[in-house]
Amino acid sequence: MQKSIERIAGDSDGVSYEFPVFRLTGADKAAPSAYLQAALHAGELPGVVAIDALIPMLSKAEAEGRIKGNITIVPWANPIGRAQYHFGEHQGRFHLGTRTNFNRGFPLLAAPDARLLPDANFGGADQRLKSRLVQLSLGHDVVLDLHCDDEGLAYLYVHTSLWPAMADCAAAMGVDAVVLWSEDTDGTFEGASIMPYQNASADVAKLDRRVATTVEYRGILDVDGALASADAAGLYRLLAMRGVISDTTLPAPGPFTGVAAPLENIDMMPAPRAGAVLYDVKPGDRVAKGARLATIVHAPGEADGRTEVFAPQDGIILTRRSRRIIRAGEDLLKLVGDRKSGDARSGTLED
Ligand SMILES: [Zn+2]
Repeated sequence: MQKSIERIAGDSDGVSYEFPVFRLTGADKAAPSAYLQAALHAGELPGVVAIDALIPMLSKAEAEGRIKGNITIVPWANPIGRAQYHFGEHQGRFHLGTRTNFNRGFPLLAAPDARLLPDANFGGADQRLKSRLVQLSLGHDVVLDLHCDDEGLAYLYVHTSLWPAMADCAAAMGVDAVVLWSEDTDGTFEGASIMPYQNASADVAKLDRRVATTVEYRGILDVDGALASADAAGLYRLLAMRGVISDTTLPAPGPFTGVAAPLENIDMMPAPRAGAVLYDVKPGDRVAKGARLATIVHAPGEADGRTEVFAPQDGIILTRRSRRIIRAGEDLLKLVGDRKSGDARSGTLED
């Protein structure tokens, strides 16, 4: 395994950012290659510790000559966000200099060709970082962007062109749910990993064997040794199943038995009032239309001081907030409904 250091120039003299890249060289030029990155939202660490648990497994495979395709790993994809503290609180989701979400504004190339990337000299440090991450990932058959939600199930975002071909990956990783999307106008990293192939010829696109996904490894507090080992085992199974590594000892994977639903089915459930949230449901709960999801306590002890929120349709609770203070209009939770949501905002990529 080779380690190299990437350097991203900062926005003023004397500032620059570094992150390590690990590479394993495959023995078979025809084998699929893989790219894994974690902590693009720099405070989302379940993927970082999963990679920490995965690397020894890959080193063992390498020592035994079982690495078939090239593997590139970026455990800390966002050194800019990693260093952002604001009044003592870590801020890893938005670039403080531009207010831009670190998982937006990636270049959506018309074809999988790094020469089409915009000139990074004309952007800020965050744009230089995004360009470099696309460059590092482009051309790999398997691209995994490891994130987490606030509190949530383990789930994947997958472009409709890769489904159900990627159902084996969801099964291998042991995730609970898959959210299918079709349109990315904001430039997520996942969009940058799949949109360039949408107009490519079939032999370049290879959509039957391509993997691109945003992996939501549960909640922000789910940074845990046992979960990291389980997630690493899931990543390893995926790499083995897709032929990036070989391992004849693994049992045949079963079918994916989780929920797969289009993005349009997600109800975001905005809070009608500001206050303290009392949840009736947690991620994984199945709810029926009309079931109470939460109560907002906005005027404690007063008549009409509580407002209840009810499920607009049958479905499964995918995520909820980790903090219990909420403003009016902020989202209480994500409900994956059995049917299309009545909320016009559903259908947009949320990570
Ligand atoms: Zn994220």
